Amino acid sequence: MSSKPKVAFFDFAGCEGDQLQIINLEEKLLDVLSQVEIVSFREAMKEHSDKYDIAFVEGSITRKSDEERLKKIRSQAKVLVALGSCATIGGINSLKNAWPSLEEVKKRVYGDKAHYFETYPSRGIDRVVKVDHYIHGCPIHREEFLRVFKALIMGVKPYLPDYPVCVECKRKGNICVFEKGQFCLGPVTRAGCDSRCVSAGSHCWGCRGLIDDPNVNAEKEVLAKYGLTVDDILSRFRIYDDYRYEEIKE
Ligand code: SF4
Ligand code: SF4
Repeated sequence: MSSKPKVAFFDFAGCEGDQLQIINLEEKLLDVLSQVEIVSFREAMKEHSDKYDIAFVEGSITRKSDEERLKKIRSQAKVLVALGSCATIGGINSLKNAWPSLEEVKKRVYGDKAHYFETYPSRGIDRVVKVDHYIHGCPIHREEFLRVFKALIMGVKPYLPDYPVCVECKRKGNICVFEKGQFCLGPVTRAGCDSRCVSAGSHCWGCRGLIDDPNVNAEKEVLAKYGLTVDDILSRFRIYDDYRYEEIKE
């Protein structure tokens, strides 16, 4: 019998782009796969087993009936890892949380078939079960996945940056988008992506979630320079996080 750690991948509401990122690691993935036994990975294989040690969960929880399945995964896994923005912070599905009524959202999406479908406010998986580790991003960074995966196999706690994207952005020598009269969530967003959106000519949209305690840890120098507060930038746009999941009507 194999003594390698058993690993399973699961998905809820999401585009499955994070699992695709993992598959796209190709040879690099094969190196680490020799250290584990994959027992479930719907995007890559047909076989499935309910016996696993490490579960990677992609996707947000967007309906009550998802909760039971997620709790079952949690009860079977020794280690549970949230994979990508939808799982870590609610993700792009949380745009519906900005609406005053989810009945209206259902009608917009499903028209006169809306009554066939169930929905509730989108939320990250840690609103439902305990999560041991997070791999942030929309989509995840492949190299970060490998780093976390290797750490878990070795039984080491994976490192998670807790400083803002601005720090990486300055290291890259980017011109701050505030200088161009645009807006950016970099001062309050968790780093680890090498400020890839700013470096590609856009701004930070916040896909890696807030740094711990933004009021203390935000990039104060940037905010002060442009006369902004943490609340100012958070009120301008929140695309990825599930911040209203408790307050809106189901
Ligand atoms: S606010 Fe945005 S563009 Fe400016 S330094 Fe921070 S991450 Fe870079
Ligand atoms: S720059 Fe911001 S939006 Fe872009 S990948 Fe990094 S955290 Fe996500």
